[in-house]
Amino acid sequence: MSLFDELRRQEPGLNDRQVLSVACRRLVRETRLHPPINPLALMGLRGIVGVEASRLAQLGCLVQLGNGRSVIHVRAQDHPIRQRFTIFHEIAHTLLPGYSGTQEFRCVENSKQPKEQLSNHAAAELLFPGLFFEGDLAWAGLTTKGLELLARRYQASLEATAIHAVDHWSSPAMCVVAKQPPLTTATLGSSDRPSLVVSYVHRQGVWPEAVNAYAILRSGVLEQTLAADARIDGTLTLNNDNQEQATRLRLSAKAYPFRTGGRRQNRVIALLTSA
Ligand SMILES: [Zn+2]
Repeated sequence: MSLFDELRRQEPGLNDRQVLSVACRRLVRETRLHPPINPLALMGLRGIVGVEASRLAQLGCLVQLGNGRSVIHVRAQDHPIRQRFTIFHEIAHTLLPGYSGTQEFRCVENSKQPKEQLSNHAAAELLFPGLFFEGDLAWAGLTTKGLELLARRYQASLEATAIHAVDHWSSPAMCVVAKQPPLTTATLGSSDRPSLVVSYVHRQGVWPEAVNAYAILRSGVLEQTLAADARIDGTLTLNNDNQEQATRLRLSAKAYPFRTGGRRQNRVIALLTSA
């Protein structure tokens, strides 16, 4: 019987995500690992004999070698931190319900497939084990400064850390990631830089309708953060369209440029909680 099926039988009231969270906690406890979690011990427990960097179109894959053994392939051109998450994602596939050790997984970015989403969930539970992460988050706080500390401690990307931190914050929380489209030949040399575009919003808890990506972008705070090139910690007031009600939020934002395809791209990460 698989670990998943065994836990499902012990805890019939849990959904798939909750069963996976319990499985991940158990694995981290058994291996006595501490952050930053070394995936090698987890791979050994799940029959994965190694990691190879290959030229892949997709992020990664888990390839069966026979006799219950498998190997992880990660995309050679990805950043090591991205590859690290892919390794945890592939380990997580072996924990999923119905995993028989015979399938081959080819994993693409932002897939909406339930198995891919469950794998991402379990990967985050292994990368940021609750045993350590909950205390660390309470100590570091949901700010960009705290985010940087946590990303370094867990060797994870800022965005993956922000999403996990939002999910585990003790009250409603939100992160907004906005990116500036790269300069094209049409905009190169022009004084009009392309504006920031919200890449995605990740939220947890109940929020007023007025608090949405459009309202945050319209407030101008993301553009100000990019222009100031400094850490911004303060409050943000968002008005409803009818101007009758205002919502005060605590905001922490900073510009984090990154490189993609050899080019520098601007990005702002903003963390929001209710003030
Ligand atoms: Zn996958």
